[in-house]
Amino acid sequence: MSTNYGAVVFGALAAGAIIGLIPFLVGKYNGNQNLGLIGLAACVVGNFIAGLLLSIPIAVGFVLGIILTKNKHGGVSSPRNCPNCGAQVPAGTLFCNRCGARIK
Ligand SMILES: [Zn+2]
Repeated sequence: MSTNYGAVVFGALAAGAIIGLIPFLVGKYNGNQNLGLIGLAACVVGNFIAGLLLSIPIAVGFVLGIILTKNKHGGVSSPRNCPNCGAQVPAGTLFCNRCGARIK
């Protein structure tokens, strides 16, 4: 029985991680990686506790939360730092106004 239990636990964690990839990827592509990571962790825990019945609603909730958070800010990302000289440049700027390096 112990080997079966181990397989069940591993299966539950793996399934939770797969479900959790959805909010993780949505968060990554919407500039909200922190919320995506929390969603991934919550899905793993939720799936471990109650299976897909819990992890899928958690994943959907986090995806909606990430999208709604993005819309609230109008899709504008926060100021970033120049990868070359470290100067802060406004969001949407293509080139650093101190050293001229291209901002990714
Ligand atoms: Zn620069």
